[in-house]
Amino acid sequence: MMLQPAGRSDAPTAGLDGEQVRAAWALMMNAGRIALLAHEHPDGDALGSALGLAQVLRDFGKTCVVACADPPPALYAFVPGINEVQTDLGAEAVDLVVALDAGDLSRYGALYERHRALLDHARTVNIDHHVTSRGCGEVNIIDVASAATAEIITLMLMQLDVAISRDAAVCLLTGIVTDTRAFEFSATTPRTLEAAAHLMRAGAVPAEIVKPVYRINSLAKVRLWGHVLESVESAVDGRLVWSCLTEEMLQQSGATADLDDGLPSYLIDIAGAQIAALFKEHADGYPRVSLRTVHPYDAAAIAAHFGGGGHVRAAGFTFQGTLADALRVVLAYLEQQLL
Ligand code: 5GP
Ligand code: MN
Repeated sequence: MMLQPAGRSDAPTAGLDGEQVRAAWALMMNAGRIALLAHEHPDGDALGSALGLAQVLRDFGKTCVVACADPPPALYAFVPGINEVQTDLGAEAVDLVVALDAGDLSRYGALYERHRALLDHARTVNIDHHVTSRGCGEVNIIDVASAATAEIITLMLMQLDVAISRDAAVCLLTGIVTDTRAFEFSATTPRTLEAAAHLMRAGAVPAEIVKPVYRINSLAKVRLWGHVLESVESAVDGRLVWSCLTEEMLQQSGATADLDDGLPSYLIDIAGAQIAALFKEHADGYPRVSLRTVHPYDAAAIAAHFGGGGHVRAAGFTFQGTLADALRVVLAYLEQQLL
């Protein structure tokens, strides 16, 4: 395989550390059996990154296992290879772990808990774009300028001049499309579009991702959103907005908890909102809080205050208490931020 000569400084891949990219690729090429991990409660970027990279590595004769603590949401049924995602790593040894879209092993949830003996000691490459990520590998490619982990992987493959099959391109473009809400979010840069263009040339079609992800809704999802939106509340002159997604709402609408995807962004788009929070009740665990902010409020810093993390505009955390306590404690803290 040929490595591209050092690119022009305005080349799409200029922002990536070429040495790190080559070190990551060397680890992958020297491995026979590779486990690719998507973080718990997986989104399109975690799944698309893991499946896309797995498919590229298979073209090099690698045996790849894609694993995630939680099964993929039904929404992603169109993603090539989605049915191969395992919720367990099995007993077979792996030569290399590639941890995707989160920079801390605990973010891989139950998968990490069950396979600590392996994951604490395995050779690991970590690829992620979250500002709060410390890196959990011996090679860490943490690029916060990328809108998606799939954008980083695409840029890496461009830099390495590695061919991308159509199926791999669809997976990676799914990651970019879902983390930018179809190129709408401010994290979208010219480079994001260049990576997407590269994937389109490999055969991926944005409309075939946008339609199932953003246009086609199940009746249960529409009903769930109805319940959540009907319960929106606001304070501080409308600058703070929040709502709850309760177990009762899930039962009434026949929906599953993963159908909340997109709801927090919908809340921050309410005119005048500067901080939005969605409080999600969980029958079998602590409530989860999703945060969205506009400038100058830092969602990642607020989430970090409660033990979570994420991006400047979008972050989340698990609240170690009841839903009622979460509402009381977190809303008081958010109001304070807005004073
Ligand atoms: P969401 O609100 O959509 O679940 O998450 C928003 C962003 O914050 C995502 O990029 C997600 O990876 C990150 N995030 C959500 N929950 C947590 C958490 O508990 N810890 C960390 N470190 N990041 C989180
Ligand atoms: Mn991501």
